Amino acid sequence: MTDCLFCKMAAGVIKPDTVYEDNKVLAFRDINPQAPVHILVIPKTHVATLDELDDAELAGHLLLTAARLAREEGLSENGYRTVFNCKRHGGQEVYHLHLHILGGRQLHWPPG
Ligand code: AMP
Ligand code: ZN
Repeated sequence: MTDCLFCKMAAGVIKPDTVYEDNKVLAFRDINPQAPVHILVIPKTHVATLDELDDAELAGHLLLTAARLAREEGLSENGYRTVFNCKRHGGQEVYHLHLHILGGRQLHWPPG
């Protein structure tokens, strides 16, 4: 078992607050939510950053899963934000690819 936190979640060793799971992706609630709805969608395979993602099918599945979960969370009428933070300047802290879904309040732009 790798030392990666999100790999441990994908393997079921650490149990997050799961909202969706299939054979390729896992979605769970962020432990430190920045909005009323804050969900992370991760691939079950270890991909460190968006810069290393080379599987187009997986990329599409992550995005379509995020859009579906946002609908299911009631976010589609007012909208929401999806974010991949990539590496240091992007503010990435966990080096296992994750797509943030943030919604339920007005979000501002540009980000800090
Ligand atoms: P990032 O800065 O894009 O790497 O985001 C990492 C996210 O993972 C942050 O929003 C954290 O709050 C979240 N996070 C860290 N540990 C956990 C955990 N054990 N369960 C759920 N979310 C977590
Ligand atoms: Zn990992």
